[in-house]
Amino acid sequence: MEHTTVKTNTACVLHNSRTCALLNQRMCEDCPVHRNGPESAEQTAQFVEQFESLLPEGGVAPLFESKTCTLCKTEPKGKRSSYAIIDFGHSEPKQLVHRRLLQKQGVGFMVPLQFACCHKCRRRFLLHAYLPLLAPVVLVALTLPALMIPHWIESLRAAASWLPLLIAVLAAGIGYAVGKILQRELGKRFEQEMYFDLLQHPASQAMLEKGWFPLFGEKKPRPVFSRKRIRYGLGNAPSSRKIAENSENIPENGAESD
Ligand SMILES: [Zn+2]
Repeated sequence: MEHTTVKTNTACVLHNSRTCALLNQRMCEDCPVHRNGPESAEQTAQFVEQFESLLPEGGVAPLFESKTCTLCKTEPKGKRSSYAIIDFGHSEPKQLVHRRLLQKQGVGFMVPLQFACCHKCRRRFLLHAYLPLLAPVVLVALTLPALMIPHWIESLRAAASWLPLLIAVLAAGIGYAVGKILQRELGKRFEQEMYFDLLQHPASQAMLEKGWFPLFGEKKPRPVFSRKRIRYGLGNAPSSRKIAENSENIPENGAESD
């Protein structure tokens, strides 16, 4: 898949520079230097440098560049079919870009961790998330046919008119409780097979060590799944651009295959 950036403003002081590549904007009009004027270029370059220095060694690109699942613990690892995304924030820089968030959460830089994820790992996440909802539905669906048997329902109604409803509600309640227990047990089993707690992943651990923190859900952030990864913005550039010391190493038009 082509990842194309359109850098038309050849007059920009950052044009085709390493900073430009790391800023990784889709087009010049999206760039903070375009919005804030050429005099902001130097400060922007400092931001980018600071951002890079705060990332763990090797950056975050290997997570989304991997063609195999980065969450599987068992071999062989599944083929990448989507991305499990969680957002991290850093308290630096203080004087900042995302002013509203900064005030609320003390967030300076933000970066998504985009874990290449296989079909199986994604299904585990979804099953785990929906189990407390699925279990009551299944149990009520199993109970209803029994309640529909005329002889039974008449006997129940004869005892008390609300009894069939109570049984249905009880079935839902028991289903929910069973779902919760199963959810906990499944979570433990999944953890053996994959990095089910994304914060335990070595990449997350490296981020935490560098002072980053998950933005949503401090204990066990739930990933958002996407078939396509976030391609633009700081931290989302392919690692070839991070390695590139100057424009000569960056492919023509910033295009590269994924
Ligand atoms: Zn997997």
